[in-house]
Amino acid sequence: MICDSFDKEHLWHPYTSAIDPLPTYKVASAQGAEIVLADGTRLIDGMSSWWCVIHGYNHPVINAAAKAQIDKMSHVMFGGLTHEPAIELGKMLLEVAPPSMHNIFYADSGSVAVEVAMKMAIQAAVSRHGTHRRTNFVTIRSGYHGDTWNAMSVCDPVTGMHGAFGSALPIRFFLPQPPVGYYDEWDPAVMEPLKACLEQHADEIAALILEPVVQGAGGMYFYHPQYLVEARKLCDQYGIYLIFDEIATGFWRTGKMFAWEHAGVEPDIMCVGKGLTAGYLTMSAVLTTKEVAETISRGEAGVLMHGPTFMGNPLACAIAIASLKLLNSQDMAARLKRLHGVISEELEPAKDLPEVKDVRSLGSIGVIEMKEPVDVGQFQKRCVAEGVWIRPFGRLVYVMPPYVITDDQLKTLIRKMIKIIS
Ligand code: PMP
Repeated sequence: MICDSFDKEHLWHPYTSAIDPLPTYKVASAQGAEIVLADGTRLIDGMSSWWCVIHGYNHPVINAAAKAQIDKMSHVMFGGLTHEPAIELGKMLLEVAPPSMHNIFYADSGSVAVEVAMKMAIQAAVSRHGTHRRTNFVTIRSGYHGDTWNAMSVCDPVTGMHGAFGSALPIRFFLPQPPVGYYDEWDPAVMEPLKACLEQHADEIAALILEPVVQGAGGMYFYHPQYLVEARKLCDQYGIYLIFDEIATGFWRTGKMFAWEHAGVEPDIMCVGKGLTAGYLTMSAVLTTKEVAETISRGEAGVLMHGPTFMGNPLACAIAIASLKLLNSQDMAARLKRLHGVISEELEPAKDLPEVKDVRSLGSIGVIEMKEPVDVGQFQKRCVAEGVWIRPFGRLVYVMPPYVITDDQLKTLIRKMIKIIS
């Protein structure tokens, strides 16, 4: 096993014990859809490094964009200064974002984007309604929005990984996960809990926050797009803002550029991250309407109260521009259709396994839901022995590969995944 004793003793890895840590495998390099370990073992990557490496590793076009920008400037403060990469990226984002998006806030990571979106909603709601009562949030169960404080508060209290913080977190309104799946027949009764919540509590709520259509780290679940259509109507009726967290779903992961396109309804505020910088650097963006931006600016503070050090980092912007250009230069709808075809076909045999509860896929996401939780350490040991990289959580074993993965690599990845679980 490619473990490092210093790493094991001193370095904290995500969601693992400091006393008895899960094994970590030392990576020497990565190329395309492959990760190369220090001993030369090659792994087909099914995770896109937590879903962000959309174009694969070590992409020559993105590498070149990063190098060119480094030679001009890596960073400059965004307070009082601006630069071409931020401007060009902004223009490109508005071209692909929901048409009503107008103002862009560059933030540091997905979680921070969620914090910013929630702050925007509160400042706008307070200004719009003229009361400080409207500062809470409503969301659906099994959601995941990040690891920072307010992001944690809108994650599912059980599956969202933040149960340890209990009463330290602000209390939000939680609705049931929409029980109608993406491919199921719509049932209007699904909206009753949101209706009831808004009837009773709208005057305490700034916004409804959701991952549109695909819930990621809270459960890998795909719900019916009509939920978003109906939620939009209810939000308008009760004067509540609608926030779409597209951090995991953005940049073609669900088969469309953004997941809102499955429903055709636009949010008031939208968060993007992960694939924005193709896994090269940490950066996110929060987009909003002119109405929200101006409502905040007419409010008490007169400005949005957020301004991180690395806001609008030019290097990250240059990388994001190169990544968007790559997406724009390809027929991504066709690419995703092909990936989905292979994923759904290759997952088929898993449906017959006695250990499996459900098998589902959408875009380039393929999920096997097991009946029992998976032992991550054991599972990953098998993965490395089989030459694939998959990191399950809870009862969920899934793939979200880089879009450059070849059909053969993808078939091998999924066949090995099924071999390991069976
Ligand atoms: N929102 C969603 C939907 C996510 O999937 C994630 C990360 N998995 C986040 C927010 C947080 O992003 P980050 O890890 O970059 O802070």
